[in-house]
Amino acid sequence: METAKPKTFILKIYRGVANNQYWEEFELELKPFLNITSALMAVQKDPINRKNEKVTPVAWEQGCLEEVCGSCSMLVNGRPRQGCSALIQDLLNQTGSDTVTLAPLTKFPLVKDLVVDRTQMFENLKKVRAWIDADDALDRGFGPKISPAVQEALYVLSTCMTCGCCTEACPQVNAKSKFVGPATISQVRLFNSHPVGKLMKADRLRPLMEEGGVSDCGNAQNCVKVCPKNIPLTESIALIGREAVKQGLKDMVSLPDADS
Ligand code: SF4
Ligand code: SF4
Repeated sequence: METAKPKTFILKIYRGVANNQYWEEFELELKPFLNITSALMAVQKDPINRKNEKVTPVAWEQGCLEEVCGSCSMLVNGRPRQGCSALIQDLLNQTGSDTVTLAPLTKFPLVKDLVVDRTQMFENLKKVRAWIDADDALDRGFGPKISPAVQEALYVLSTCMTCGCCTEACPQVNAKSKFVGPATISQVRLFNSHPVGKLMKADRLRPLMEEGGVSDCGNAQNCVKVCPKNIPLTESIALIGREAVKQGLKDMVSLPDADS
């Protein structure tokens, strides 16, 4: 008796380096709960394309494998998301096709295949001092208490993994613009809402008052639709926009930091 052929699907990958990118297809066995990362691992193990050619394994990034580190961000069927949490069967069901397409994010310099360089996002976080200064913190005893309500509000903001999906979706982030993007602005909200972080509030707002700052947002709201952590990005942008205006007025009359 003939055994049934395993069910397969096509993984179509936009690969290569800058100015030399091409589509390549691989046919893979469809296994239950297979995700993009596992599919890429199968290609890596046996990198034979649909033309039956042995090719170089596909390059991609991965880290935590549980949608926390953001390193496996890519365009999956054209949408920015993480490969680890994208199940092949779900993707096939959504499109009714036998093919899943993968491509690198386009708003970051391409390294190779699905790997991009997200350094700019981290540079933007440095620009706005997206951290709490902790020098000598141990000598100062306990920090101020944070109410459970504030903790809850801050928690969602703190789940940002600098994955780049919001940057990818934002039309205001492009080759001609210096816009820092929604994730950076939301991190300013996070650290400016913290009782200790508040002390450096003005230093975080001022870079957002320059070119590429919060006023460059065009309110297209694409960012909030693609954030895998459901961070209320447009709410953060609106709030920080108001704070930046207040800070600007205070600076004009040489008063100290903005108070909310
Ligand atoms: S709301 Fe602003 S930050 Fe979000 S996608 Fe639109 S322009 Fe970009
Ligand atoms: S705000 Fe959301 S989409 Fe943007 S980098 Fe953070 S986790 Fe990713």
